[in-house]
Amino acid sequence: MRFRKVLDAIETYEAGKPIELVVREFGIAPEEVVKLASNENPLGTSPRVAETIRAHADKAHLYPDDSMFELKAALSERFGVPRETIIIGAGSDQILEFVSRAKLDEKSSVLMSRVTFAMYAIYARQQGARILRTEDYRHRPEEFLPIMEREKPEVVYLCTPNNPTGDAMSRDAVFKILERSDPETLVVIDGAYMEYAAAKDPAYRIDPAEILDYPNALYLGTFSKAYGLGGMRVGYGIARPEIVRALMKMRPPFNITTLSLAAAIAACGDEAFVAESIALHQQELPRYEAYAKARGFDYIDSYTNFITWLFLEKMDSSAIADALLRRGVIVRDLASYGMNALRITVGTPRQNDRLFAVMDEVLG
Ligand SMILES: *Cc1c(COP(=O)(O)O)cnc(C)c1O
Repeated sequence: MRFRKVLDAIETYEAGKPIELVVREFGIAPEEVVKLASNENPLGTSPRVAETIRAHADKAHLYPDDSMFELKAALSERFGVPRETIIIGAGSDQILEFVSRAKLDEKSSVLMSRVTFAMYAIYARQQGARILRTEDYRHRPEEFLPIMEREKPEVVYLCTPNNPTGDAMSRDAVFKILERSDPETLVVIDGAYMEYAAAKDPAYRIDPAEILDYPNALYLGTFSKAYGLGGMRVGYGIARPEIVRALMKMRPPFNITTLSLAAAIAACGDEAFVAESIALHQQELPRYEAYAKARGFDYIDSYTNFITWLFLEKMDSSAIADALLRRGVIVRDLASYGMNALRITVGTPRQNDRLFAVMDEVLG
């Protein structure tokens, strides 16, 4: 069977390994498996939100409110932006897909960091667009701006904080790029981990309301990380109404479920859970920094809910990830990104204890 030629260049996205796989392959009991590979909230789902999901179980036969009135109202209030500047997606991933389909074709180019969220390139390749990357894994305006000037890409992705490296762009750096961007270039600011960055250092906080000053900026947020709803698949985009109207043309009807919609609305009124999640993270992150130092390898200063450990040459990230997996600890190997590194979601104290104990075993 022949498919579109552009598919030849696409590698299927490799998601973090599920708990079920470790249970199946290594015969480890599910409750023994420690999953620190997908940046999920280690505190789980907020009890308040879980209650809301249960309460909506008997509404599963109803299509959701496709206008998403209540959720948009909640986000509008939270960010102080008009409702018509908001679009909802099945995860912010789906909005990335809308962006690609709305802006890119075979004649287009997109610009992103050398090491960044894999879906940007996958969606761009689906459209046959050319992919431009910076040399540095960090997002530096000095590198982005000349390429933007020269190549006039249709889309630029600023992933801040960046996945899978954990570093972030300062607010000043983001606005420097916005300020000098061509009005036809859509600058996408992916803030999937913004809650963590904002809590760590206000100089790294991007406020969606501020990007509305620019006719070519799109801010993306998600309920999957700090809000603990990865399994419900809800994300949002905030941009000027003309951008939102274009993206809405790409949206299938009822793109999030009745239960997801109810869960996201409840999560908006549950800031205490997010605060608790961030406090736990801030308490546990230094243990990962200390472990790396004690073992003599490096790490990237993290603005996210995960840390990226950079190994010395004599240590092989793939071998370490594999040895951890056999012992029931799932982490993310970054070899496929060209890095000898592991990305590890900072877990609960107990999960982290287990990770350090197993690392000790593996490193000897
Ligand atoms: C997790 C993540 C997303 C989107 O997650 P969804 O679950 O699709 O909302 C987007 N960008 C980055 C960088 C992420 O890490």
